[in-house]
Amino acid sequence: MPILFGFSDQTKVNYYVFPIQPGQANYLAGTMGELRSTHFHGGLDIKTNQREGLPVYAAAEGYVSRIRIHPRGYGNTLYLTHPNGTVTVYAHLQKFTKEIQQYIHKEMTIEKCYEIDHYVEKQLLPIKRGAIIAYSGNSGSSTGPHLHFEVRDADENVLNPLFLQQFNEIKDHIAPVVTKLAITPQSIWSRVDDQFQRKEWTLNSASSYPLARPIEVYGDIGLELLTFDRQDGTRNRNGTPIIKVFVDGNLEFHQEIDRFSFAESKENIRMFYHYPTQKKYAKRFNKLYIEDGNELSFYPDKSKKGIIKIEDDKLHNIKIELTDAYKNTRNVYLKLQGKPPIKKIYQKPSFTKSQGYELHQNVLLMYQKKSVVGQSDTVWIKEKYRRLGLLPEYQTATHDVYLWDLRTGLPDSILFRQGAVPTHFQFPVKPNYPYSLYHQVMDLAIPKDALYDTLYLQLYANTENGQEVFSIGDPLIPLRKPITISFKPKANMYLVDPNKLVAMYVSYWGKKKYVGGTWHNNRLVVETRELGQYTLEEDILPPTIQAIRILKSGVKFKIRDNLSGIGGFNLYINGKWTLLQYDKKSGIIWTNNDDANIPFAGTVELVVYDNVNNFNRYINTIQK
Ligand SMILES: [Zn+2]
Repeated sequence: MPILFGFSDQTKVNYYVFPIQPGQANYLAGTMGELRSTHFHGGLDIKTNQREGLPVYAAAEGYVSRIRIHPRGYGNTLYLTHPNGTVTVYAHLQKFTKEIQQYIHKEMTIEKCYEIDHYVEKQLLPIKRGAIIAYSGNSGSSTGPHLHFEVRDADENVLNPLFLQQFNEIKDHIAPVVTKLAITPQSIWSRVDDQFQRKEWTLNSASSYPLARPIEVYGDIGLELLTFDRQDGTRNRNGTPIIKVFVDGNLEFHQEIDRFSFAESKENIRMFYHYPTQKKYAKRFNKLYIEDGNELSFYPDKSKKGIIKIEDDKLHNIKIELTDAYKNTRNVYLKLQGKPPIKKIYQKPSFTKSQGYELHQNVLLMYQKKSVVGQSDTVWIKEKYRRLGLLPEYQTATHDVYLWDLRTGLPDSILFRQGAVPTHFQFPVKPNYPYSLYHQVMDLAIPKDALYDTLYLQLYANTENGQEVFSIGDPLIPLRKPITISFKPKANMYLVDPNKLVAMYVSYWGKKKYVGGTWHNNRLVVETRELGQYTLEEDILPPTIQAIRILKSGVKFKIRDNLSGIGGFNLYINGKWTLLQYDKKSGIIWTNNDDANIPFAGTVELVVYDNVNNFNRYINTIQK
């Protein structure tokens, strides 16, 4: 079991009240530690019968220690501090009790801002165990009504509430489920089904031996799983917290997601799941191996790294044991057959093109279609002053495949049979030092620890369809922390005001996403955690304003911006600044009726800005 730092068994059993419908059956739409794209989920998502307005109960005696209102993220959020040192957090709320609501309204009016984040003094808002503190909602980045409930320790680490206390409100008799297995080669000599490739298998989850025959592997390999856990009475696919891997009976890997800090979560999630598969297909495979750069605290014995070494031709037995917070366990058994690399393979590789190259950590994999059956062609790699001919490492039914260890040198170009392909490699960047690079088309600053592992940096810019495209590294390589890119756009490619320039990230599938940036010293400077391609665009359109309701009882608008997004807004009624609520996902802003002591009358003036200071104004009158 996880360590419970100072909790007696007594408090473990019954310290917390379940915050929604206590004493009744409840259901979870999410569990603590489950994988999201940018973080591990910090708490329980408790279902609220698909509606808003359910009473939310204080999980224990204490006081309101913090109130945060935000149009995104956690939305309307309340924090309670308890005598045992823990803090409980209640997020995506619809509204608070009258007393708390009045406190918030006062603070917002003083600050003239809808967004607040207030630490409240201890004596101000004391709370009794089990008292109603708020009403559940769908505020912030929530995509459906629910309560997000967290327990944190005094150092702001989130704790798994179901490990602290097995609430009777949740029933769980269902063991975790595995839907897919993947095996990834970990060195240039590794093979999975005879090739240097990551391969996936769909598992028959009903069987503990879900694969009909052994998988042929060689060298260092890593296992990955697509897994979920379910609680009784709901179809939601929640996270699997505890996984152990036994190789020939020996424990080789053990993860237990019981607590983490927010920085740890954000900075390491991209090492925990297989990043390229998440980026390409939004699937998060739980890696059952620990690579260099992974600083997560989920591993009780970090010396057991889970990298499986197979250097014989024998059969090896793998047992994967998955356990949930209610101690339901599922065992999955696999067999790995050791098989040394061979030169000729009668299967097809997954390459869609006739030639190309891929980066797999230290390994550069190159491939080209075979010319004459039975003949193997050489590729040449050009590296500064030398030219090296490479013979295929192996041949498949259709392609020759070549492998190059990037630690031995970075090729400038690859000469395939059909011509040379430039690689744009600059130099290897190590994770433990800061780097600055000054380049003709963009400068780059990589702070210390922004990388997980050595980055073989590629950099170039070209023009496609009249637009500059900037390429920085491989989009399938994860970053731990943001790097700074200073784009140097060609002046003649853009229209008027460089202050209206914004950077857009081009996703793996070519979809553009707003990143932003600031114009400084003739450069557009952005901080980003994505390697890959960027373009620059001009945001010259102001936000749109659509009046939904202009009444004495209140006003309501829908606001939208095409590119850089809503930067801010101010509402004046009869010249007096008036507080607005804001829900970013719907673009709705409105005055809160609870706060209107006197009916609105006179001029209504709304000004809305985008993030590059384009603005729009709406003026109307409310008759007395
Ligand atoms: Zn949540």
